[in-house]
Amino acid sequence: MVIDSPVATCRAVRKKDGTPCAGIPMPSGYCLAHDPGLKDKRREAARRGGQNKAKAVRLRRLIPPRLAPIFDRLEEVLDELHARKLDPRIGSSMATVAAAMCRLLAVGELEERVRSLEESSKNRKG
Ligand SMILES: [Zn+2]
Repeated sequence: MVIDSPVATCRAVRKKDGTPCAGIPMPSGYCLAHDPGLKDKRREAARRGGQNKAKAVRLRRLIPPRLAPIFDRLEEVLDELHARKLDPRIGSSMATVAAAMCRLLAVGELEERVRSLEESSKNRKG
């Protein structure tokens, strides 16, 4: 869903297709990605990004497989919200539902672990 209310956007134009950038402008009138004053910071961030990528891949493996698609979708939502391609209310609702799903899965996992502990203690008693 596209927000149609007139809001200030970044002054830059996307090189790829010539459309105006929809990023949230800073006092300079440009978004974080286009602010000419932040060029050095961006270069430094890109350098660090390479190092962080390996870390991100490692962290990604810690997410239970069942939650991975939700995580990916929420990551997309973050990008869409930043690009103002998504109604913030929808993003907020999605985050609420995703949090509820995570809680439910966490409870389910805990029950599974308790059940397996009970099973193993039953087996020990014979
Ligand atoms: Zn921009």
